[in-house]
Amino acid sequence: MALREIRTEGDPVLNKVCRPITEVTPRIRELAADMLETMNFAEGVGLAAPQVGILRRLVVIDIGEGGPGPLVLINPEICESSGSQTGDEGCLSVPGMAGAVTRPNYVKVKARNLDFEEIEVEGEGLLARALCHELDHLDGKLYVSLVEGELHPADAQEDEDGNE
Ligand code: ZN
Repeated sequence: MALREIRTEGDPVLNKVCRPITEVTPRIRELAADMLETMNFAEGVGLAAPQVGILRRLVVIDIGEGGPGPLVLINPEICESSGSQTGDEGCLSVPGMAGAVTRPNYVKVKARNLDFEEIEVEGEGLLARALCHELDHLDGKLYVSLVEGELHPADAQEDEDGNE
């Protein structure tokens, strides 16, 4: 496994639509493992493949306590959503910033796992927010386009270790 460089806002790779994955090759497995390691190292709750420069429909999510553990989702799609929540969101590609975004409070996502089996993931609250945020990345959308009001500095807990 290896850490990958996280692309930041302004890199055109973040605005592209990603292609579906048609089979789980060793390279896809390596990408997923590297993304999990990179997300954990950067202390993020999610990371999408385009954030490490790969235009494929793959995301990893781990919201930590209260969550289902690390998720690797291939070709994920939201198939149900309900409710709404408004709260601050941040992104490893927009370091040090946060802004209020309204998202569904519940989503159900269909995806495939690393065995390319169909799976469903349901999330409420933070997990629903993370799922929506990461899936947007696969269509080239950053949360900054959805922010209500202004971006503001995130709580001081990032970037202290020079993670770049
Ligand atoms: Zn993001």
